[in-house]
Amino acid sequence: MILDGKKEAAILREEIKKEIILLKEKTKKVPGLAVILIGDYAPSQIYVRNKEKNSKEVGIHSNVIRYPKNVTEQEVLTKIEELNFNEETSGILVQLPLPDQINQEKIINSIDPSKDVDGLNPINVGNLASGNDAMAPCTPLGCLLLLKKVEKNLSGKRAVIIGRSNLNGKPMAQLLLKENCTVLITHSKTINLKEECQKADILIAAVGKANLVKKDWVQKGAIIIDVGINKQGNKIVGDVSYDEVKDKVKAISPVPGGVGPMTIACLLKNTLKCFKARLT
Ligand code: NAP
Repeated sequence: MILDGKKEAAILREEIKKEIILLKEKTKKVPGLAVILIGDYAPSQIYVRNKEKNSKEVGIHSNVIRYPKNVTEQEVLTKIEELNFNEETSGILVQLPLPDQINQEKIINSIDPSKDVDGLNPINVGNLASGNDAMAPCTPLGCLLLLKKVEKNLSGKRAVIIGRSNLNGKPMAQLLLKENCTVLITHSKTINLKEECQKADILIAAVGKANLVKKDWVQKGAIIIDVGINKQGNKIVGDVSYDEVKDKVKAISPVPGGVGPMTIACLLKNTLKCFKARLT
């Protein structure tokens, strides 16, 4: 089974769009997503353009605020403060990475947790870790939705995650724990990584190393989610050697066209969630 993220993201966007139409009829309001983009880093420009396009398609009002790369930290903090109080802004996202003069932690901590669509504010991180309702980061959320397309009930599965970043590995572990998986987080200092991966019913690769996971790393019938995005010549590849692994496993997400589209669709889902929370 190839986990077609493009198709699943389109289905999710359609559901979001319908819900926004209904809510607009009832409340005369639409969700608003503010995106802060600093500098001219090419991948960030592309991500933000895609986020803007997808937001508009589902009826979310998109407000992209662009700053030159030498903007001061105070200027950005002042803008976030303004957006925190702005009634039309349901969600706030600061596109990472940030230039050196800006403290990422300070910026993330300044976003109102109820508008933190990226789920990186420590309040949301803590709520997720406590098993409470929380804004979960978009990429792991997208991975979970893809996994659920293969098996609705993940209880008891042994999940191995490669990578322990705040954006991917750690929140992925929390989401899988909530699904009653037995979770192992691995990283660059893990001993016998291959052997650990061989025991996985679910393997999530979020590393950023092209073709790290080989055919003999995976168990027959495992479910593989490849988060990695790596440039190889003029091709984009994942962290998993897709061609050699795909016939051995039960399901695998390709790169591109797997987790990537789901991440953006989950950003829209989180924006809608923030909007709805403010209506009640
Ligand atoms: P990151 O912050 O650089 O974290 C990478 C993790 O991989 C770290 O925990 C690191 O371990 C671990 N690692 C590095 N080399 C390893 C090795 N040889 N064996 C085992 N673990 C190793 O990266 P990230 O932000 O989580 O992103 C990971 C990948 O996902 C990147 O390719 C990124 O482009 C991609 N990504 C995709 C999406 C999407 O929407 N599809 C979204 C976000 C990111 P240590 O902690 O020990 O250093």
